[in-house]
Amino acid sequence: MSLSPLKRLFAPDPGKPDGPGSLLIDGREVPVRYRSNAQARRIIMRMEKNGQGIVLTVPPGTSAQAAHEFALTQAAWIWQRLVPEDHEQLSETLIGRSITIRDTEHVIELATGRGAPVHLRDLPSPQLVVRGDASHMRRRIADFLKREARHDLEKASRGYAHAMQVEFSRISVRDTTTRWGSCSSTGTLSYSWRLIMAPPNVLDYVCAHEVAHIEQMNHGPEFWKLVYRHCPHTDFARNWLKRQGHTLHKLPV
Ligand SMILES: [Zn+2]
Repeated sequence: MSLSPLKRLFAPDPGKPDGPGSLLIDGREVPVRYRSNAQARRIIMRMEKNGQGIVLTVPPGTSAQAAHEFALTQAAWIWQRLVPEDHEQLSETLIGRSITIRDTEHVIELATGRGAPVHLRDLPSPQLVVRGDASHMRRRIADFLKREARHDLEKASRGYAHAMQVEFSRISVRDTTTRWGSCSSTGTLSYSWRLIMAPPNVLDYVCAHEVAHIEQMNHGPEFWKLVYRHCPHTDFARNWLKRQGHTLHKLPV
């Protein structure tokens, strides 16, 4: 692994000096444990015994921010010593867990033999069936959900573009953390694939909202008039996103 990806490093949460925190290094969340030690003259860092995290021993009174920033400067050192995650074990923990897809709980089941690598089954009860070896199961499920999301997002966006008599240029489906959707000045609609796990009316509203931006690049009264005229469940969806939107990021995948 070259060190260049480390330039993309950023810090999600400095944590508390005596509490857990984490560093994000090249997309991998590395747990950080802090220990205050009266003897320590400076911040001392070591790897956890299992090689999956770091321990920072800090002099009393050291701020979480300072300790965290120190750890960030050592990202290359940490990366070289990190033990690869056990994919087999990570995937095992997914089996039997449930995941909400289009507002319906699906239990993750492992299947053997030939067939689609991932598919949905409704009977006898809703299941997300995954085939193949346990490694990369997480990624296979995420890829499958992204494709399902794209399908629903394209369908809803096309419907609203037709109804509002506007045209968009293309659709991009990503794992966004701060917004559920956006509309660029060139007419590209971007959406979070995690909307597939929300009630279908919520995904539908986000499409109405973004398509309406092609006509109205603002959140003024005319914009909202357009959205409400075409999307009757706007209030429901906005409330849902406000109250429960964060749950879409707390998933096993
Ligand atoms: Zn907007």
